[in-house]
Amino acid sequence: MRNYKLAAIPGDGIGPEVIDAGIEVLKALQACRGDFQISVQHFDWGSDYYRRNGRMMPENGLDQIRNMDAIYFGSAGDPDVPDHITLWGLRLAICQGFDQYANVRPARVLPGVSCPLAGYGPGDFDWVIVRENSEGEYAGVGGRAHQGHDAEVGMDVAVFTRSGVERIARFAFDLARTRPRKLLTMVTKSNAQRHGMVMWDSVFEKVRPDYPDVTMDKMLVDAMTTRMVLNPKSIDVVVASNLHADVLSDLAAALSGSLGIAPTANLNPGGNFPSMFEPIHGSAFDIMGKGVANPIGSFWSAVMMLEHLGEKAAAARLMTAIERVTAAGDAMPADLGGTATTGDVTAAVIAAINQENE
Ligand code: NAD
Ligand code: MN
Repeated sequence: MRNYKLAAIPGDGIGPEVIDAGIEVLKALQACRGDFQISVQHFDWGSDYYRRNGRMMPENGLDQIRNMDAIYFGSAGDPDVPDHITLWGLRLAICQGFDQYANVRPARVLPGVSCPLAGYGPGDFDWVIVRENSEGEYAGVGGRAHQGHDAEVGMDVAVFTRSGVERIARFAFDLARTRPRKLLTMVTKSNAQRHGMVMWDSVFEKVRPDYPDVTMDKMLVDAMTTRMVLNPKSIDVVVASNLHADVLSDLAAALSGSLGIAPTANLNPGGNFPSMFEPIHGSAFDIMGKGVANPIGSFWSAVMMLEHLGEKAAAARLMTAIERVTAAGDAMPADLGGTATTGDVTAAVIAAINQENE
């Protein structure tokens, strides 16, 4: 039997609520399939750990999870700890430490879910946003000087490397190639950001001839937001820098019905380090502890994890179960207009997994 070691890092806010739900669903899937096993090890890293220890995870944290097959992450973010500490101390430390340079975010309207765009619904668009996840605007390069004085300055420097852009370009072209429409939209802001982004454009043009079967077009990021809203059917795979794709993918999540359903994979495509799977949303302070968080983003992230592990049949079974539940509509969480609790949605998805005839 195939056995996978999974590091669960539920983190803060609603993170533990949705990751616990996701693990329940994975256990149900494992029980009904019987051909793989997932051994989960929990890590209590996050803001409570920070309050006790002065850091978000132990100094040797990466070593503790280096040999895992995958990482299942909830959220980092706490009302009482500055966001740059929670983010850099945990999530970015893992993404950057494990060179998870490709962040992949599918977006589509699930059956039974209503799309905020008038006239659009399930099946009308099917996007994957690829986010450069290792450098760019979030490289962490910059500094502050003259702190507290009138002359105070704060600088964040966007870092684009030829090798970093080329590898995300190839990843995006390779992904576009696997999809029926084989369209790739490359997003930059190379009119205003006239150094790194102009290099980004030139690297894509250099890589492009290697993928004659993929149709690539180019958009400036501001225009891309309008295209997503006004012409969603024209889009297939989108690739953009760390900051631009971060923003575009929240918009994509909202257009697919709610931030609560959107999944993410942070991939180290070469497999030298474990990859990390997480819902897109954050700690959701306004609903934490209430048991009403939508766990579908966490479930869909588990689908991406199973695909990455090579468990395609189990992944498909889970995705089908999620879609049956949304289509049936009687276990919709509050963000999708229903009254179901996290536990209700979880129970419904587990029931759908068990009902499925393969
Ligand atoms: P958020 O995603 O936490 O919440 C935005 C809104 O969406 C809130 O109204 C929230 O209730 C709702 N929402 C989010 N997930 C939901 C779910 N599963 N079910 C139902 N409703 C849901 O974003 P924010 O408010 O900007 O950030 C809150 C904290 O989370 C901050 O500290 C931020 O830094 C952190 N954060 C962490 C990550 C991460 O770790 N990957 C991502 C985004 C934000
Ligand atoms: Mn984000």
